[in-house]
Amino acid sequence: MKLPLITKRTRPFYPRDHKCPICSKYVGEPDSFLCFSGGAMKQIEPNFYSMDDDLFGFLDINFHGAHDFGKGKYRDAFLMKHIVEHSACGQFEIYFCSTSCFRKFMNMMIDDLEEELSGGKKKNKSDVISSKNKKQ
Ligand SMILES: [Zn+2]
Repeated sequence: MKLPLITKRTRPFYPRDHKCPICSKYVGEPDSFLCFSGGAMKQIEPNFYSMDDDLFGFLDINFHGAHDFGKGKYRDAFLMKHIVEHSACGQFEIYFCSTSCFRKFMNMMIDDLEEELSGGKKKNKSDVISSKNKKQ
């Protein structure tokens, strides 16, 4: 699965072919499905909000390693996985056929993050990583 799933060059939803990103089964109406959504709304009036072309949404997983006297694994590492980058109107939706596939997706994201942090996988172009202790 290539990240980010949604960018300013795509529509603000994924998948665009109605196939679950995990199992490829059909996902959409009238069947049941899970929608992982997020974003921002522009405040127009005190109790009125609207989508806006000036907003760009994002969804990242960031790992911030310990530094100085801090404790924790992957010392001095910083890794950012961009799942959604500059989504149109500041909003996005990612569809899954089931809670089980959504859980698998989240586990895949964390497994991928841990693999990169441990040096077992080369970083993707969309990832940002820095580490003082990374093997050369
Ligand atoms: Zn599925």
